[in-house]
Amino acid sequence: MACDIRAKNIDVLPGRKSPTKENGSMKTNVEVDADGKSNNISVFVRVRPLTREEKARGEKSCVQVLKDTQFIKVVDYGYGYNALTRKFQFDGCIGHEVGQDQVMEKCKVQRLLDSVLEGYSSAVIACGQTGSGKTYTMCGRNEDRTTHGDGLIAQCVTYLFEAMKKDHSGNQRSYSFRASYYEVYNEQVNDLLRLDCAPRDVKWSVKDGYYVDDLLLVDCECVDDVFSVLNEGAKNRKVGSHDLNKDSSRSHCIMTLHVDSCSEIGDGAPIVRYGKMLFVDLAGSERLKKSRSSGDMLKETGNINRSLFTLGKVISALAEGKKGDLVPYRESMLTKLLMETLGGNSLSLMIACISPASSVVEETLGTLYYATCTKTIVNVPSINIDEKDKVIVNLRKEIEQLKKENILLRSKLGLPAEGDIKDNASSQPDIETNQKQISMTVAPFSKSVGHVGDENEPDFSRETLVSNQCGWMLDKERMLTQLRTAERLLCNKMAPSAKENSQDALQNALWQQESKARVIEGIENLPSRTQSFPNVQPLHALSEDSYKNKSYSISRGRSDDVGVGGQDRKLRLGLVGKQGNTSGQWHEGIHSLMSKGFLQWKIICG
Ligand code: ADP
Ligand code: MG
Repeated sequence: MACDIRAKNIDVLPGRKSPTKENGSMKTNVEVDADGKSNNISVFVRVRPLTREEKARGEKSCVQVLKDTQFIKVVDYGYGYNALTRKFQFDGCIGHEVGQDQVMEKCKVQRLLDSVLEGYSSAVIACGQTGSGKTYTMCGRNEDRTTHGDGLIAQCVTYLFEAMKKDHSGNQRSYSFRASYYEVYNEQVNDLLRLDCAPRDVKWSVKDGYYVDDLLLVDCECVDDVFSVLNEGAKNRKVGSHDLNKDSSRSHCIMTLHVDSCSEIGDGAPIVRYGKMLFVDLAGSERLKKSRSSGDMLKETGNINRSLFTLGKVISALAEGKKGDLVPYRESMLTKLLMETLGGNSLSLMIACISPASSVVEETLGTLYYATCTKTIVNVPSINIDEKDKVIVNLRKEIEQLKKENILLRSKLGLPAEGDIKDNASSQPDIETNQKQISMTVAPFSKSVGHVGDENEPDFSRETLVSNQCGWMLDKERMLTQLRTAERLLCNKMAPSAKENSQDALQNALWQQESKARVIEGIENLPSRTQSFPNVQPLHALSEDSYKNKSYSISRGRSDDVGVGGQDRKLRLGLVGKQGNTSGQWHEGIHSLMSKGFLQWKIICG
């Protein structure tokens, strides 16, 4: 065991780390204590009573569960008179007097099972020295292997089926259960439900991580179906007998219960969640000196200890906060398969089983250090759900949250609740009331029109009134359009005044034709035609500033017509002449204005 906490050998208190949050995912179910620390791996210690053999050997109990059941005290008598007392704290400690039926409640397993029904992965791992009570805790009394009624697995399965029947979530859900059972023996994975087949491969996928390929999954419709799986698996487990345990498990066994739930909410497609419950009964570590294993068992012991050693390394690395490749998951089959459980997305419970016998105090302390390290690991549970469904569930959560915020804000602002608004909306005047209001509004008109109607037509109906009103409206619209056109013409800076003479009339016509003329500012763009007027001085005679300040213009109309116009009526020339025709008026007018410095212009060409 490489956990460095071992160095502090007195009053070891497990520390915890804050959970790491992952962006944009549903990894929000991190249970956090009041002190802000993660509680997604809980660790409990179970002390079994001294066995008959141990008592016969005159063994003393060296373990004591303290009153508040969070602390456990271990006395190491190996130091003679100076016996060393060590105290550990866990989520809970279960003394030898606690019966099987209370384990589930004491270890708060219900929380894990409820999560499984919600689509999370959960795991219970029993660890500890060989003969410390792991298989007893998980599978029940080994004297009677055909029934598992008092084991934790059986109790959990019963709970899950009962909870499913109650459908405690309140949603309309249908559940399906499937069970698999396999063992990791000598670094091989055997399907305990199909002994005739070769060892199974362990594969890896991005979605599922490491998984056992091609396992037999048994559909379970009732508790008895799961019990059959348990019995079948238990029969096929590798067990051996040695000095420490006459029924020693020689393999790590993992029983998995897949709980798929399909919920139909609203009209949308049903959402399927893939809950998973793992029950892990590890093979116990053993000292060859004490177990006195030999032959095949010796090899098994070596493999068991090696994989447990790797498990210890993984736990140490995780406890130190290492991530990714720095955690040696890949070094053993067991740690690969527990990747999700330790430092992954699962809710996990470790039950560290210990023997009270003083002769195995070292192993007991080892187990407790192991468990202490585990407590510091951070798991970030997440619902197992398809990506698409994940988005839908997230959006639904967001809507719920927004609704709550809306209610809160409304109550703070003293606004009626949403329901009240709807009620108000629904209490809007009905059609009859509307009609009454309309008739009241149109009453004065209908009266006068009615009067006219009386004169012209004896039966002046409401329809006639309405159609007349429509006609008036259309007339008004037409007039408005005409007014707008006139206004545009009058307000146009370039528009000539309405001064009456023939030149103006012609100029006016030109303006109207050239209203979309391109405006060219600057001498460079002065059209050559305009320049062909010998007496018209080009614009460069004026500074840019001054020419920009006023807005006179020379415009060229159809064919060769050229006009001059301006906004300022006093200076407006409104002359038209043919190209090359140096009309006296044109020439004189422009030239005199320019010489007085009055005339600056823009060129407009068509
Ligand atoms: P492990 O699986 O850890 O190797 P077992 O579960 O096989 O150990 O238990 C070893 C022995 O101790 C068995 O005979 C079992 O009945 C007994 N035992 C274990 N835990 C308890 C307990 N809490 N109460 C009574 N007997 C127990
Ligand atoms: Mg066992």
